[in-house]
Amino acid sequence: MWPGRSSESGFLGRDERLADVIAADAESLGRIGVTHEQLADALDHILDSALAQLEDAIERILDPITVRLTDDLVEVKVDDSTLARLKEEVAELKIDDRYWVDFAVCLGEQHCPWEVIGDCSGVVKHASTDWTITSSSGAQLSGPGLISHLIRSHHFFESRRVEYRVEPIELAQLLDLA
Ligand SMILES: [Zn+2]
Repeated sequence: MWPGRSSESGFLGRDERLADVIAADAESLGRIGVTHEQLADALDHILDSALAQLEDAIERILDPITVRLTDDLVEVKVDDSTLARLKEEVAELKIDDRYWVDFAVCLGEQHCPWEVIGDCSGVVKHASTDWTITSSSGAQLSGPGLISHLIRSHHFFESRRVEYRVEPIELAQLLDLA
């Protein structure tokens, strides 16, 4: 959980207790009447839909120009106009007519820290991508793909001291739950 263990930037500050961080966030959410599951569901809906759009664009644009060389090797002959078209389509992944999603693919997959201690039973999704969601209301938040799993399965938004924290109240506002 601390910096340098299961993730470079860590999930907790060195002198923090996990139980305290989780309890403080649960209390904030309780005050606005939003559950962890509601937040994770709404976030997953947006990320799943945006990823489906992204995959669809790649399939439509790149598949017709992909040449299979051997069973494991393909060659994609991408010219500048194809690349420009692809970039244009994936630059604005729009969901439900009001959220724009931008993905930054990370090198490697982020692992749930509970997995490391053998105490994670939930499904981990989106773990190799960071996201930025902008709402038509003007609100914008960024976070790691792993966060929807951390919220749903572990009620954890990461510590206020680490850069990957997603502020629960801001997330609820972005997703129109508060
Ligand atoms: Zn987990």
